[in-house]
Amino acid sequence: MADDIYVVLAGGVGAAKFLEGLVKVIPPEFLKIIVNTGDDIELFGLKICPDLDIITYTLAEVVDKEKGWGFVDESFNCLSILKQFYDYGWFNLGDKDLAIHIYRTDLLNQGFTKAQATQKISEKLGVLSEIIPMCNEPVETYIKTPISNMHFEEFYIKYQYQPEILGIEFKGIQEARPIKKILDFIHKAKRIIICPSNPIVSIGTILQVPRIREALVKEKDKIYAISPIIQGTTVKGPADKLLGCLGFNVSSFGVAKYYQDFLGHFIIDNKDCDLKPKIEQLKIKTYCYDTLMTNLEKKIKLAQFLMNLN
Ligand code: GDP
Repeated sequence: MADDIYVVLAGGVGAAKFLEGLVKVIPPEFLKIIVNTGDDIELFGLKICPDLDIITYTLAEVVDKEKGWGFVDESFNCLSILKQFYDYGWFNLGDKDLAIHIYRTDLLNQGFTKAQATQKISEKLGVLSEIIPMCNEPVETYIKTPISNMHFEEFYIKYQYQPEILGIEFKGIQEARPIKKILDFIHKAKRIIICPSNPIVSIGTILQVPRIREALVKEKDKIYAISPIIQGTTVKGPADKLLGCLGFNVSSFGVAKYYQDFLGHFIIDNKDCDLKPKIEQLKIKTYCYDTLMTNLEKKIKLAQFLMNLN
């Protein structure tokens, strides 16, 4: 029991919702959470890591649960002044949130790695799980649109993922290296859980880090994913649009196809259970459950369901 390791691959809001339930089912200290950093962005001279922060704030129980990101009881005084000097006012940063970005940027400037900075922040906020960025090197996801080739955060927040997607680019991914212990944890884990996160620009970005996908392929039997797509659409965000753009069927079947080489077990929503036989033809064991996590009880039940599967 003391050596139990459960690896989780996570993006932002969808992952955080599931993790809130999972830490009620498994001791949080058993969890090694590998987080997408392709959404990271530098604004106002500060290094901002949206997915790392969403996961950290959620597990530290300081997150704004209504929004799913940022601190609860937040004020935006600093941003109201910053907006007078910069054009980045579309990126909402509260005062408490800014304190974290100042601290992280200071640590990185002192020579700490992103993984070390993440650990210091999460420990100080009282998180018991280990939160690990997918790599220390800078990777930035860009979306090519008719307006411009824009950072994913600009596409998501400023343009509300409305522009047509002409292409996706993961800048810096070839130079990225998985943090060494990620590969060890993948090998040693009792179970590997792929959160219901954006398969292309959250989980997909982690999969693009050299050697991570190959490491997962060897562990197929212990890999469990939850589909982020219900009845052909996302609960929130552009995952459906991105899947379609890459030529995948916009459904849980499309997600299964994208994960086919490493996925052993897949939980899809009850409403999509008609897709089960088709997904099982991909040699992925498929289970139907209510995956819409609208309250804590449903998050816990979904986590229990996954953990009770053999
Ligand atoms: P982001 O980086 O903040 O967009 O967050 P993620 O990549 O972690 O998650 C986005 C994905 O989570 C979207 O594709 C949503 O459809 C999915 N998602 C969010 N809430 C739920 C839910 O309650 N159930 C399921 N099955 N998927 C969800």
